[in-house]
This record gives sequence, structure tokens and C-alpha cells, in this order.
Amino acid sequence: MKTIDLRSDTVTKPTPAMRRAIAEADVGDDIYGEDPTARRLEERVAELLGLEAALFVPTGTQANQIAMGLHCRLGDEVLAEGGSHIIHYESGALAGLWGVQPAPLEGERGVFSPEQVTAAVRTDFIGPRSRLVSLENTHNRGGGKVWPLERFRAVVEAGRAAGLAVHLDGARLFNAAVAAGVPASAWASLTDTTAVCFSKGLGAPAGSAIVGSRALIAEARRLRKRLGGAMRQVGVLAAGALYALEHHVERLAEDHALARRLAAGLAEVPGVTVDPRQVETNMVVAEFAAPQAESVARLAAQGVLVGATGSSPRAVRLVTHLDVSAADIDEVLRRVRQGLAG
Ligand SMILES: *Cc1c(COP(=O)(O)O)cnc(C)c1O
Repeated sequence: MKTIDLRSDTVTKPTPAMRRAIAEADVGDDIYGEDPTARRLEERVAELLGLEAALFVPTGTQANQIAMGLHCRLGDEVLAEGGSHIIHYESGALAGLWGVQPAPLEGERGVFSPEQVTAAVRTDFIGPRSRLVSLENTHNRGGGKVWPLERFRAVVEAGRAAGLAVHLDGARLFNAAVAAGVPASAWASLTDTTAVCFSKGLGAPAGSAIVGSRALIAEARRLRKRLGGAMRQVGVLAAGALYALEHHVERLAEDHALARRLAAGLAEVPGVTVDPRQVETNMVVAEFAAPQAESVARLAAQGVLVGATGSSPRAVRLVTHLDVSAADIDEVLRRVRQGLAG
């Protein structure tokens, strides 16, 4: 039985063509600034996001945390949605690396309002200094929710009016762009810093970028070194990311279509609750009758790997990606029906 892995879009393996691009990459010592492939990638990402400069980093977590270090000082507060990656999935880095605390805002699938930002900003001296508002697009725990551009703009304006810097965790920003039919720069160019991942839906084996003004990225280079993220012949990774930007952005629409097909199919299965209208990108969040861990185990026994998600005790997350075909989705639906019946 073929295992179909829908746990995350991070499980993809580099395609043969991507491996060739990696094998043929022109490289040099990037700490000496001599890796031409890393340079090309950084220029391309900055251009795509409508910001001045970019820096290649090993992970999205490091990209986000460099941004925190750029914008915040000890004791500062970061406004971020309560379910955001920087609060939930970065091993306490806000506090552990920078002495910064989160001010969690309660969003609707990750999306909050300008009024919430204004209300959360501290102006009194006994509170922490509010320094930064951080947004996540698409929102991971929000089930791949796209930030509507006008709402995003309004939140950025509210943050700026209060003197806050703005960071975007755009680990899946290209999914948002393809789903909304607008360029990634529409959101990113409104921010001070944006982080993007090449290792999610884009299918590269590793790598992320932090993007911003030339001055901020010069300082980001120092923080990357301090965090141990500066690498040598890093063009072997940058080549995979460049290949992904060239060949794997538009095709994200296929992942989104398969996610919708999966949700529509699951909605027909007795005992499964899912709202196909909530599927905007490559994630499906479905509630099964059994508790989460049991559903995950039962599906794994059928050769279908899914993730537990924090959004509800019965919800599981199914993510489509480069290594999942339409036939795989139909097979998943068949096995789900069988698994629940049997
Ligand atoms: C995956 C992800 C990241 C970065 O994760 P790494 O595994 O460190 O690359 C950041 N933000 C969001 C929303 C993510 O989903």
C-alpha cells in the first residue's frame, strides 16, 4: 500500500530537475559574500516582494527571529495573533533569544482587525513598550487562511499610526498570492520585513529569506551570523530555492484545487465535518468523530498520514503539496470511507 503523506507541505522531496539545478549550482564562500547563486536568489526575492534587499537563511524560524531581533529591544512587546507561528512553534524564541513578550490578539482564523491593534498598544510607562505588529499570511493554524489585502493594509496603517514596525511571516505568502490572484509584493511591500520559506509549498529542501530595506538587511546579516545561520557554499541550497521560485509558484494553484477536491469529498463522508468554503489554499481542516490522536492513528493504519492541529480537539489537518496527485486524493477519499466504515 502506497503511503500518502498529507501531514505538511514540508515533506516534499526535490524533483529530478531541481536536483540537477542544485548539482550544477555556481557556488562560493557566502560569508565572504562570494556565492553567486545566493546573491541571485536574494536579488530575485527582494524584487518579487517589492522590497530593497533580502538575506538567505536556513529556516523560516530564523527569518522570523532575525526580524524580532531587528525590531525589538529587551522588555518590548510584539502584537501577534494568538495562534501564530512565532508564539506557538518557535521554541519560546521571543523570550529565549530577545527578552521580548507576545501580546496575543484573538483572530478569526488568524486574521485580526485594526481596532484590535490600536486597543492593544500600550502607551503607559508601567506596561511593556509595544514595538512591532507581526502578521502571518497564509495563517497556518488558521487552516491556510489568506489575509484579505484591504484588511492587511488597514492593520498595517493602525500599527504605523501607533509607531509600530510591521513584520510579515510569509512562510506561505506565495500560496496567498496565487490564491488571491495578486502578487506577493502586494502584502510584502507594505511591511518593514517579510519572511518567506522555500521549503514549504515551493518544494525546496531547505531555506528561507528575510526581506526588507537595505539598512535592515545589513543588520540582519549580523544577526544571522550571531545565530549561527551564516553558511559557506550555500548556493547548493539557494539553487533549489531559485528553481522553486521559477517553476513551483504558479503550480501552487494545483495544490489548492486538490485541497478543495479533498474537502468536497470529505464533506460527503458520514462522521466527518468540514467546511469546503474555508479551504482557500493547500490546507484542509476536518473534524472526525473520534478524538484527534485516534483519527490520526486510524488514518495512518490506512496509509494516510495527516497532522494533528491545535485548532480543535477533534480536528486533523490535511495538506496538499508537490508530491500529491489527483489520483492520490481520490485514493485518500476511498481509504477514509473504508477506514471509517471498518
Ligand atoms: C513553517 C513555518 C515557519 C518556519 O518554519 P521552519 O520550519 O523554521 O522553516 C514560519 N511560519 C509559519 C507560519 C510556518 O508555517
